[in-house]
Amino acid sequence: MLHARAVDGLQKRPFRADPSPKTSRPAETRPRERKPAQGGYCPHGPHHFRRQKPPSRDKNPLDNQAARREGSAVNITLDTVKIGTYAVRVLCQLDDILLQANGFTMKFPERPNWTYRLKRDSRPAAVLLDNPETRKQLEDLGEHWRSRIHARIRKDWGERCFAPDENGHWRHPLFKASGTRFSCMHCGQAFPGAELAANLWHCPDPKCDGSPIDITPSEHPA
Ligand SMILES: [Zn+2]
Repeated sequence: MLHARAVDGLQKRPFRADPSPKTSRPAETRPRERKPAQGGYCPHGPHHFRRQKPPSRDKNPLDNQAARREGSAVNITLDTVKIGTYAVRVLCQLDDILLQANGFTMKFPERPNWTYRLKRDSRPAAVLLDNPETRKQLEDLGEHWRSRIHARIRKDWGERCFAPDENGHWRHPLFKASGTRFSCMHCGQAFPGAELAANLWHCPDPKCDGSPIDITPSEHPA
């Protein structure tokens, strides 16, 4: 019975008299050749997903365009430094600097008026963290990399976003709008351009987390 069914199936298979209908198909109706998408996402399905290459390490990793694109999703290792008996990894995550070692993570935020935050984990690194000398070395290391991030941002935006023009107007780095005072959409406060520029266009209020995208030219200039 099984055999008969199998034969039956074979017989039902459509007979193709001409094996070349594919090649004789007009060019305009031929399916387009599928190429893997450049950005990793492919509308044709996961079989075309192209693995992204890890960012190559340049002489100055902060100037590496690929690394900065990748930085939106992953941590980029910038350096590994030996302090005491610990190997401390320096990472960049969305322009924040992280120092990581067995026992702790120190986060140095991109915004200049926020100090670093220390998070200890289950493997206490008291030898390093409770010793004023090594603690200072860690702080200096984090601040060094944070200042490099700031320098890169200033370079990207251009010095005209950090100095007033001849009319005393300050230029917003993202919206290209100029003014003397700007408002923060988060806290509603208005600040002079000089104060914002000094804080890399983040809200100067230490309790507010307004970033440059939340800062707009004030409608009521003082
Ligand atoms: Zn604010």
